[in-house]
Amino acid sequence: MSAYTVTNPATGTVEATYPNATDEQVAAAIDAADEAYRTWGRTSTKASRAALLARVADLYDERKDELATIINHEMGKKLDEAVGEVEFSASIYRYYAEHGEEFLADQPIDRDAAGSAVVRKMPIGALVGVMPWNYPYYQVARFAAPNLMLGNTIVLKHAALCPKSSAAMEAIFSEAGFPKGSFTNLYADFDQVHSLISDPRVRGVSLTGSERAGVTIAQEAGAALKKVVCELGGSDPFIVLGTSDMDALVQTAVAGKYENCGQVCNGPKRFIIVDSLYDEFLKRFAEASSAVELGPLCSLKAAERLSAQVADAVADGATLALGDGKNDGAFFAPTILTDIPAGSKARYQEFFGPVSQFYRVKDEAEAIALANDTPYGLGSYVFTTDPAQGERVADALETGMTYVNEVGADSAELPFGGVKNSGFGRELGSLGINEFVNLKLISLD
Ligand code: NDP
Repeated sequence: MSAYTVTNPATGTVEATYPNATDEQVAAAIDAADEAYRTWGRTSTKASRAALLARVADLYDERKDELATIINHEMGKKLDEAVGEVEFSASIYRYYAEHGEEFLADQPIDRDAAGSAVVRKMPIGALVGVMPWNYPYYQVARFAAPNLMLGNTIVLKHAALCPKSSAAMEAIFSEAGFPKGSFTNLYADFDQVHSLISDPRVRGVSLTGSERAGVTIAQEAGAALKKVVCELGGSDPFIVLGTSDMDALVQTAVAGKYENCGQVCNGPKRFIIVDSLYDEFLKRFAEASSAVELGPLCSLKAAERLSAQVADAVADGATLALGDGKNDGAFFAPTILTDIPAGSKARYQEFFGPVSQFYRVKDEAEAIALANDTPYGLGSYVFTTDPAQGERVADALETGMTYVNEVGADSAELPFGGVKNSGFGRELGSLGINEFVNLKLISLD
């Protein structure tokens, strides 16, 4: 059986299998990607590329129900959330269609000497994208939209769980009018990805996924002297130092925690609550969590992995304050861990699902120290009634993003990325178009 398989996690039924790419298909994909870069990426106008992206955005909107149903079957996302993801992805293609030309404008340089100089933003070539299953359309949009605007071309290796959504995306790019080779979906295995990364015509690699995959892909890219962007996991702190509205705070926390069944790289994972609010917040959050109806995790394997992590945490001394920590097939109920001992493994791991860790702290300084005591540095959340405290804590947190008094504010114009083991590079916003770019100096005497 092919590794690329649609197994509905809600039922366990295998709904479709897709054959792995042959080595000939891999070779043809890179030939086509390089050819498209040379004939289209380097020569087409910015306006024409923007028009193609706008058409992609329209097609996502027109097909939102069909696209949403595909990922509902592939990785279990609830239909309303799946529609939301398709709409968000459309907004990203539209954002780069509307702003791409402005982001790619020449940057004139004031010279001391006579003559003139500009920095011109040029494409660099074919890129490989290795993408995960948790947001099958959105993760690809973050990578594809700015790079196609720039004139780079893309070979996609999507997650083995997502063969149908990746084929649907390839069809949309083709139908929108992108030339052959500008976006190719490949059901590649790891060795084939490695051979792509080593190919001299591939000029960069973007990975969104686990830390483990990041280590391998970054090593392979480094060995071949290719630029790499890594958007890896996170164990984002949700720090509560003050609130004037406990109801709204609990609602915000619950909405952020259980989106996509908790399978969100920058979702709140460690709740760090000041002593005076801890008991009430925990009680209310646990009550609200019990009432949440979740769909399945992306696979049985993911649910079993989460179950094993929770069992390890409990064996190390943590308390289960909500849930029994056991999966039911691919389903996993909202779960809360408290009293996680200092030094225990759980403190330093990402729990990719509806599991929350709770920590009681005495003040702002202890909250910051605990929040930073992690290998990860993706996002962070701070809740306070004091704007100066919000800014101070934001400055002190070692993460790529801090959201003050809000969760789930992701938007096409806001840059996304992490520090430490959460990776490097930025996606989205004006920064997202500057990763795989030749910032070319043109100096005229
Ligand atoms: P992986 O990192 O294994 O998968 C992400 C992508 O990387 C998939 O396309 C996968 O392919 C591919 N991949 C993994 N290893 C290699 C390799 N050596 N060479 C080439 N491609 C590779 O994530 P998992 O699906 O195993 O999820 C495990 C954990 O990853 C989660 O629990 C979470 O911690 C983290 N994660 C983080 C995400 C984020 O948004 N930052 C998203 C998803 C996961 P294939 O599917 O064929 O294995």
